[in-house]
Amino acid sequence: METKRTTRHARRTKRAPRSTGPLPRLPRDAHDDHSEAAARARRELVRAATGVELDLVARSPVPLESARGNCESLVGFAQVPLGLAGPLAVDTTAGRREVYVPMATNEGALVASHTRGMRLLAAAGGARSRVVREGLTQAPIFVYADAERALAARARVLRGEKAFAKLVAGTTRHGKLVRVRADVVGRRLVVELTFTTGDAIGINMAARATELVAARIAKTTGALEHALHGQDVEKRANSRATYEGRGRSVVCDATIPRDALAALARTTPEDLRALWHTYQVGFARLGTQNQCVQSANGLAAVLLACGQDVAYLPECATGFLDLDVSADGALYASVTLPSLLVGTVGGGSQKGTAVEGLRLLGCAGDGGANTFAELLGAVVLAGDLSLMAAFATHEFVAAHEKLGRNRPR
Ligand code: NAP
Repeated sequence: METKRTTRHARRTKRAPRSTGPLPRLPRDAHDDHSEAAARARRELVRAATGVELDLVARSPVPLESARGNCESLVGFAQVPLGLAGPLAVDTTAGRREVYVPMATNEGALVASHTRGMRLLAAAGGARSRVVREGLTQAPIFVYADAERALAARARVLRGEKAFAKLVAGTTRHGKLVRVRADVVGRRLVVELTFTTGDAIGINMAARATELVAARIAKTTGALEHALHGQDVEKRANSRATYEGRGRSVVCDATIPRDALAALARTTPEDLRALWHTYQVGFARLGTQNQCVQSANGLAAVLLACGQDVAYLPECATGFLDLDVSADGALYASVTLPSLLVGTVGGGSQKGTAVEGLRLLGCAGDGGANTFAELLGAVVLAGDLSLMAAFATHEFVAAHEKLGRNRPR
């Protein structure tokens, strides 16, 4: 029954557009734009204008209302398959955790690969994961007549740190200005403000606070002009994401016994270390800032399942994998992720299915963000271990063939 309906739906969605003229503007309901009526009006207009039915999109798993503040011009919900990897055992700052990990993905073999890596971590007695640094940056740029004036402004800005912190404290309960740095580039002054943001990514609270601080700096230093996001690394791969980090920086490691590696992944610590060496040569030639092998895969799937802003992936996935042979012949493996921009409060983290995802991980809401980041470190370590083992044993292509990739139906 479901199959017939789906096939009919597929046929309908393939129908050629009805109208050849310009597409009409989508309607907006000034009274309540997240109501069922408003969403239906848009879907009906789309059907009339394009011939495409949004039947599946319309089947909302949660009330449309829950997307208020997260999505405009709402027509329904996209659907992504959700699998569970695990169990994942991790020693976190908040204590030992054993969890199932929700992963939303269309990539066959991804969940299975991470589960295998998590078995390796379990054989090590679990991974150890720690947030080692927290700080969300914003970097407005100010322009002066010449470098001398920019240098004078710099001195004044550095003297003002306490006053700026007080200003910020008036705008947010959880955000705190914890560092001010300033660099002169010609006649421009780049001011870097670093905030701790509680359990949120905190970009809204930081942006609001930065606007206020920047206006004060511009006024008191006589800037000719200023740009709020002048040196903004937001959502871009960038060199600072690798060495200093942004958001939450996590280090996660494990020592996997030699026999467990042989039994679960059919490889040895020496083979993995040698392969890793070869990969590093390839990565160096590319000049890649991401030295992990599949951090983007695991992170994208968990971030999607947990209501995160996946546009932060270029920063989040930047990291380092390290594989070595320990003194007793075991495999030592670590992952460092300097720029995890994730939160358990704010954004989409407290909406719909995201809440269930974060609850599964035991870190929904207040007090959960650092644990969430530490668990993500272990997810990436598991994924990288499993993929490196698949490469070492030349099982990578076969695993994808077996699990359905390359054979679309
Ligand atoms: P948010 O939803 O804007 O802010 C978190 C809110 O929760 C704050 O109002 C904060 O209050 C409150 N809060 C309550 N308990 C908290 C706790 N334990 N820790 C932290 N805050 C707590 O979330 P956000 O992380 O700042 O913003 C994320 C969203 O912004 C994402 O959806 C992202 O896509 C979007 N975004 C915005 C920009 C931008 O430039 N504006 C850029 C990229 C992305 P207090 O402020 O009083 O502490």
